[in-house]
Amino acid sequence: MTDIVLSLRDASFGYGDTPVVTGVTLTVAAGDVLAVLGANGSGKSTIVKGILGLADQFGGEVSVFGQPREAFHDHPRLGYVPQRHTLSSTVRSTVREVVATGRLSRRPWWSRTTAADRRAVDRAIDLVGLTDRARVDTADLSGGQQRRVLIARALAGDPDVLLMDEPTAGVDAVNQHVLADVLRRLVAEGLTIVVVTHELAAFEDLVTRVVVVDSGHITFDGDRDTFERTAHSVLHDHNHHHHDDDHDPDDHGTVPVTVEVSRPATAVPGVRHG
Ligand code: ADP
Repeated sequence: MTDIVLSLRDASFGYGDTPVVTGVTLTVAAGDVLAVLGANGSGKSTIVKGILGLADQFGGEVSVFGQPREAFHDHPRLGYVPQRHTLSSTVRSTVREVVATGRLSRRPWWSRTTAADRRAVDRAIDLVGLTDRARVDTADLSGGQQRRVLIARALAGDPDVLLMDEPTAGVDAVNQHVLADVLRRLVAEGLTIVVVTHELAAFEDLVTRVVVVDSGHITFDGDRDTFERTAHSVLHDHNHHHHDDDHDPDDHGTVPVTVEVSRPATAVPGVRHG
């Protein structure tokens, strides 16, 4: 048994015929809590999608739990929390229904929900603190609560690795703290985390490693202490990854939790914002 959970060697990912990130070499070991930092549009989400097979791969190798990704079929072991807008508000479903979809890949499509499925869904909802909202329509939740629904959906699959894309954007300080506590408990149980974020501080003491992505390349990979000592030199530009739509009217009192990377945005030509 290897304790290497994810391994990328000279990997390139993008969309259609356009590579967005190239030459990505990265290893994630069991128990790592890896923060992926970088300016908006630098390719952070694309790396995560590439690992999951949701972006096109142009070269290099990706292996998951020691197996080439193409040969890897134990998908529930990888939990994915996409950016918030993936939670559609056109289809109305309750918190419990959305979280229960996190169990689907665990069983054949024709089989019924088991007691174990129901327990896993209840536990995941409880972990993110939404038990009293379980029967509420997700469209009626605040943005921060919707993000917790997406996290619970990923946790319901009982993953070994949780890949999260900006889980704290638009989440107020109190709920960021709640989320960090949830993740801390899961890490203690052995969960490995890869989190795309621009709010390193929101993860408190959890993050053990940092990768910085700049214009489609990894420009820093090291432990958190080294990153914090050298942050200014590794982040050559200080674009604040800031989605315009991350301001949630329901999440009052959002405290901008900043690290050195979070400087006011300066526009980079050709870079998508949001
Ligand atoms: P980040 O997560 O660092 O903000 P992304 O990985 O989302 O960056 O985006 C990197 C680049 O890839 C951007 O130029 C963006 O326009 C492009 N991109 C992202 N998603 C898609 C997509 N689905 N199709 C085509 N281009 C995309």
